[in-house]
Amino acid sequence: QGEVTFENVTFSYDVRQTALKGISFTVPAGKTVALVGPSGSGKSTILRLLFRFYDPSSGSISIDGQDIRSVTQESLRKNIGVVPQDTVLFNDTIMYNIRYGNIHATDDEIIQAAKAAQIHDSIMQFPDQYETKVGERGLRLSGGEKQRLAIARTIVKNPPVILLDEATSALDTTTERHIQEALNTMTKDRTTLVIAHRLSTIVNADLILVIKDGKVVESGSHEELIRQG
Ligand code: ADP
Ligand code: ADP
Repeated sequence: QGEVTFENVTFSYDVRQTALKGISFTVPAGKTVALVGPSGSGKSTILRLLFRFYDPSSGSISIDGQDIRSVTQESLRKNIGVVPQDTVLFNDTIMYNIRYGNIHATDDEIIQAAKAAQIHDSIMQFPDQYETKVGERGLRLSGGEKQRLAIARTIVKNPPVILLDEATSALDTTTERHIQEALNTMTKDRTTLVIAHRLSTIVNADLILVIKDGKVVESGSHEELIRQG
């Protein structure tokens, strides 16, 4: 569950310029695809269309063979988790923050997600720190830790597809790589990951799509792309 297909998708934000010029690809269920390419090439737009923030001008997008325009927004939201760039954190515990948006999750599910996300070494060692509040006088989280918390919040929902947009991220590349690795490990082969990234030095992606000027100019595994040069 979680096969994502783009079929000849075009999209324009305005009449003067076409952001996507016929994008086609398939990501098998449970696999990781990385969209790489220069800034402004269309990577974030692909994610926005997948989440139906916009609909394509032409072409179609489907999950498990079903056009995403034919399902309700509610069921689409259940099927696609988005790790936001800017995580909203509350001045409350890690537990509370991971639970945000996941009111039905059990304590055990929250703790498992926090551990999987390796949110904070000290939290792993001292479980009572789950009760410490995030913020000024409590735990101080780095940008990377905040994004891990966002990942934990997303994986608690256990959606078949997760989107991660690092195309315009302010995090350093080492942190970004760690986050992708954490996400990969946490979701194993259960979840289809769609990652947008500025750099082609992505590790762990099953499929890399090089996007330039709204088109897929190259695709393949990391090794295949290196072989092609
Ligand atoms: P990337 O994620 O690869 O940096 P984007 O998908 O954000 O690229 O942008 C693709 C193209 O669409 C660019 O030319 C960009 O200027 C344009 N674009 C992106 N967002 C908007 C928007 N909200 N309104 C108008 N044009 C946009
Ligand atoms: P980074 O450390 O990756 O640059 P930010 O720029 O987001 O992350 O934050 C700068 C510093 O501010 C961080 O090192 C962190 O200690 C502190 N900080 C930011 N947001 C929070 C928060 N919600 N709770 C605790 N500390 C925070």
